[in-house]
Amino acid sequence: MFSITATTPLLADEVISSGWIVPANTPFQTTKPLLEQVVATDSKTDLSHVRIKAEQGYWFIIDLDKQSQSKIEVIYADNSHLAQLNFYTLDENFNPLVEVNNDAYRYVNKVLPHAILPTEEDTRWAVVYVRHTEDEWLSVGLSTGTHFAKLTNTKLRNFFLITGLLLLCIAVVGTVYGLSHQAKSLYLLAYLVCVLSEFLIAKGVLNYFNIEFASLWYTKLQFSFQVLALGVINFYFIHYLQSQNLLNARQDKLTVYISLFCFAAILSCFMKQSVHLTVVILCLGFMLVMLSYLFFYWLSNTKKVVQFKFVLAWFAVILQTLCWQATLVAGAQIQQFNDVLLVVNVITAVMALLIHERKCVKQYSYSLTHDDDTKLPNKQLLIKRLDSQVKLSTEHSLLLFRPAVLINARANFGYEHVNEQIKLTMGKLAQQLASMNVLCVEANLQHSRCIARLDDSTYGVVIVGKLELSQVEQFVCVINSVFAEGLTHKRIHLIDKVEIGVANYPLHASTSLQLVQRGLQALAVKPLHGERWHMFNIENVTLSQRRIAIASALKEAIECDQLSLFFQPQIYLNTGKVHGAEALLRWEHPQLGNVPPDLFIPIAESSGIISDLTEWVITQALQYQKKMIVLLPEHIVSINISAKDLLRKDLPVLFITLLNEHQLNPANVMLELTESATLFEGVDIKNALNDYRLIGVKIAIDDFGTGYSSLAYLSKMGFDEIKIDKQFVMNIEYSKNDQTICRATCDIAKSLGSYVVAEGIEDSQSMAKLQSYGCEVGQGYFFSRPLPFDDYMQWLEENLETTTVFVNDLEKVVDLIGKNNY
Ligand code: C2E
Ligand code: CA
Ligand code: CA
Repeated sequence: MFSITATTPLLADEVISSGWIVPANTPFQTTKPLLEQVVATDSKTDLSHVRIKAEQGYWFIIDLDKQSQSKIEVIYADNSHLAQLNFYTLDENFNPLVEVNNDAYRYVNKVLPHAILPTEEDTRWAVVYVRHTEDEWLSVGLSTGTHFAKLTNTKLRNFFLITGLLLLCIAVVGTVYGLSHQAKSLYLLAYLVCVLSEFLIAKGVLNYFNIEFASLWYTKLQFSFQVLALGVINFYFIHYLQSQNLLNARQDKLTVYISLFCFAAILSCFMKQSVHLTVVILCLGFMLVMLSYLFFYWLSNTKKVVQFKFVLAWFAVILQTLCWQATLVAGAQIQQFNDVLLVVNVITAVMALLIHERKCVKQYSYSLTHDDDTKLPNKQLLIKRLDSQVKLSTEHSLLLFRPAVLINARANFGYEHVNEQIKLTMGKLAQQLASMNVLCVEANLQHSRCIARLDDSTYGVVIVGKLELSQVEQFVCVINSVFAEGLTHKRIHLIDKVEIGVANYPLHASTSLQLVQRGLQALAVKPLHGERWHMFNIENVTLSQRRIAIASALKEAIECDQLSLFFQPQIYLNTGKVHGAEALLRWEHPQLGNVPPDLFIPIAESSGIISDLTEWVITQALQYQKKMIVLLPEHIVSINISAKDLLRKDLPVLFITLLNEHQLNPANVMLELTESATLFEGVDIKNALNDYRLIGVKIAIDDFGTGYSSLAYLSKMGFDEIKIDKQFVMNIEYSKNDQTICRATCDIAKSLGSYVVAEGIEDSQSMAKLQSYGCEVGQGYFFSRPLPFDDYMQWLEENLETTTVFVNDLEKVVDLIGKNNY
């Protein structure tokens, strides 16, 4: 900061410590005797500090002979707002030598009104005539030319420095306001504008317009701006306290009083100077008291650490206002000090704002790189760290993990609780990872964090160094063990299962973004054989791309008539008679060819197209059933239903409509539900099945044995039919295990009052075994492959009594049963 004190003393060394001052409203010529008289009486005054009255003309008479030895060249008055100012020189006998032209340095005059004295020997007296519109302080000084030049330069320099500083502050605060649109920066802006106006007026800017106007208005305007400035500060304080909820309704009214006082200060400008002064001093007093009241009120109520910047700002404002008031009494002498205080004041206020903004910017940039819920580094920060690893070309692997329970837990337990738990769990995990080869995603003084959160439920850690499977296994172990405990809330316990995917740089990706993508692709692979994690594999990607292609092609499949229904017969094993047929969906895509249902049904389920497919299958199957019962009235058509379909309330309605329309017996319709579907989370299966039971259709549990349904569950659901999955049937001849399963299933079914259908019968031996266990119905290539509708109708016609295969193999079967004593 520059120093203003360098300019003191304000007046030159040659300051007039004494002279004569004569109040007189008379023009020069007639006052000559008066001057003589005054000088003769020898009553000297200190001309460096004189208060002159409003509209009263004054003569300042200076005896040049009595002044110091140095050569006096300039006489000046240190008040640029004077309404009238004339300089004269007189000889020994008070005869005027010349009225010194003070127009020579017109612009300098506005800064420091002055005159250059003639150098004639006979000049004895310098006389200054002044008049001012209001009561004012005035100092008169004498100086050498060089000193005077220095004086004006310093004044000008300080003026421009402070004006520049104020403008800069206004620009800074204005920018902050433009960016943040916060009331506090607007208040500060208003304050700075008031202070700048006050400063410019005090330094004589009004003189440039009209000297008479300036002399009349400058004190008034200066005062009013001072009151306004304090008013704005008060408003700011009130606003601040309100934002902290510290003010009550009565205190809120303070704004009204403050506004009233501001208004009074402005109005008083139009009154006599004495009245104006009283009003303004009152206003200033009120503002200072208010400001102090609010300040101490805040101090006593704040629970936070008292902020130094606030204390400093309050102190600076109070001090500066008081100091400015003091200039009223002390005159120009302490204006320099006032300027210093003004600078301190403005700088503290703006610094306080900037420090606060810096905090906001810091917070903002923190929130850009951190997850709000868990305070963990987010994807952006992770990628930044990965980028720096890529730059150094260090080998590293990204391990992404997704605790599956989180999604469920958030919905059931609520965000707050789950976030707390995640924070705890991640803390534990980080502690355990700390001793391993893990990359610190964020390292600063307060935190060092090695786990990043990529999205709501996906987290990542980076393993540095060469890719070693044993090391990855170690990481997987640690992660699994930390999450194994699951989440508990209000005695509800959710067990956690963690999906983990790993990708390596540079093996799988050449950039950080790609590495993250690869990691996500590895994560997306569904665990098949109980693996705990997946390494990125390009084949998986092609597969998943294929899945996307299939999903989009499926949408067209229905409209473009690419689907058809095949029927696979089901036979009574005892009699060889036809029981019915299972409707199986076929899709012939023009480019992809024949897409197997095992491939497209899961895709349809996950992409939501399944509901359209099911509707289509039901409609078709029931239409065909109408034709099939013509040949075999008790023909049962089995339709596969997905777990997702059970959620739909409109499907039973569709059944009722179609059954009515085709006049079909609902008991001849069997809905096949896979065992996993009946265990589908989030669906009240029993309730959903009841809707179908009410209609009268039958329900089968499909793929039985592949899920984990208990006996209790089976009996509760009361399925009409149990279908043993083909995986237990196809090897039944050689596998003791499968034999046990099939026999047990038949026993269970019997005890529950259901009948059993075995699918996947490919030969007569299997058929014989199943028959011996008491399995009622069989389905499989041994009887027939799934057939297009027309072919099936033909087959049905030919096999109405007993199937041809059955007749051929009946004898062998009877033999077999005889041999096996199961
Ligand atoms: P699923 O319900 O278990 O159907 C039986 C599958 O076993 C059928 O395969 C059938 O062709 C096959 N299969 C029958 N007998 C034998 C045999 O002796 N040996 C062998 N190796 N396989 C036999 P498909 O038609 O490929 O169907 C596969 C799966 O697709 C079905 O399994 C079913 O879950 C699903 N699916 C088929 N059509 C539909 C449908 O319309 N809707 C729904 N939601 N799923 C369907
Ligand atoms: Ca089935
Ligand atoms: Ca099956």
